[in-house]
Amino acid sequence: MMDKQVEEYIALESDSLPHLTKWGFTFESVEITCSKCGKPTVDNKYRFIDYDKVTRVIGFGVCWDCNIVIKAEPMQLYDDGRYLVKKTDGWVELNWKTERKWLMKIKSWFKK
Ligand SMILES: [Zn+2]
Repeated sequence: MMDKQVEEYIALESDSLPHLTKWGFTFESVEITCSKCGKPTVDNKYRFIDYDKVTRVIGFGVCWDCNIVIKAEPMQLYDDGRYLVKKTDGWVELNWKTERKWLMKIKSWFKK
């Protein structure tokens, strides 16, 4: 399974957790799910790219059941609560203050 995604995964030097952003949030964990079976991945690697009011998160994980490396959709979190996820057709804006599903997910990421 030595494709481009696997090479990228191996080469990525993971940032450590917890990660404190420039705008004051702490990522204590980041959950990545397998796009095939939906289970949480293991051996995750993250990269946090911090700007003054936004952080972009790039993540990779491994699903040994499906024997694949998952590259999570990049996401951007803003200090005002906006939350952008990159889908195949571009960036989609969500609001994790009003969307319950995402709110729970963000809370589990931030554990505030
Ligand atoms: Zn899987």
